[in-house]
Amino acid sequence: DNPVARKPDWIRVKAPMSREYQETRALMRQLGLATVCEEAACPNIGECWKQKHATVMILGSVCTRACSFCNVATGRPDLLDPHEPAHVAEAVGKLDLHHIVVTSVDRDDLDDGGAAHFAETIRRIREAAPATTIEVLTPDFLRKEGALETVVAAGPDVYNHNLETVPRLYREVRPGARYFHSLRLLQRVKEIDPTRFTKSGIMVGLGETREEVAQVMDDLRSADVDFITIGQYLQPTPKHHAVERFVTPAEFTEMRDMALSKGFLLAASSPLTRSSYHAGEDFERLKAA
Ligand code: SF4
Ligand code: SF4
Repeated sequence: DNPVARKPDWIRVKAPMSREYQETRALMRQLGLATVCEEAACPNIGECWKQKHATVMILGSVCTRACSFCNVATGRPDLLDPHEPAHVAEAVGKLDLHHIVVTSVDRDDLDDGGAAHFAETIRRIREAAPATTIEVLTPDFLRKEGALETVVAAGPDVYNHNLETVPRLYREVRPGARYFHSLRLLQRVKEIDPTRFTKSGIMVGLGETREEVAQVMDDLRSADVDFITIGQYLQPTPKHHAVERFVTPAEFTEMRDMALSKGFLLAASSPLTRSSYHAGEDFERLKAA
């Protein structure tokens, strides 16, 4: 086990209280939906839900992989719920969400990795809530021929897939994944449909160097990725990967500036940045520009 390190002062979180927070929670429960916001005990939940941004998790709550930073259960996955796409759409419509991020566990057990279910969820949300911007945050679809194409064809506004960390740390942090496969996946999205925005993110504080982070940025830009997110890794339990260090707010600002200078359209980099943090807001700003 790795003892969980004490968090520095700059990682402070307000308890969620707003009416929107209560409403969102109640409706998600009622429709039997899981949100990453809750499952990952995301520090931004109060703020995000108040601003009508949320991240739902489809394809069940058990993952076929076991990444060392992630608190989702690993094991034999659940049966697919055929009503899930409709339930997600209903929640998005009723909550009048501005931006929805749809993500999932990894389903190596399914022939298409869950791509058709993703696509159906996107289509249902479009019908129920045409004004809501839709971002998908997908698994890597390793060895799932045609899966990526299926999801892109459904027309999400943003296609997000996280590299999570630098290539040297993949073996210990993301053992089931391949760095260059993930990079290539992002590049393929743009090749299939250049009008889609692409996005990726990494966590820092896992032992990566500054040069390695700069290299990841260059790799992403050469794959034509538009947006980047960089946040502090926080250790969910003693069983998970230890925090190697807490990166200072000044370093996060420096990384953001570096990302922008390398040509990313949007760069979010702060201790509490998560892959889906302020995603909608930034995107709306970009559309207005
Ligand atoms: Fe949910 Fe993402 Fe916001 Fe966290 S940052 S509360 S996961 S939308
Ligand atoms: Fe968690 Fe995703 Fe890794 Fe599964 S694939 S363990 S959900 S990070």
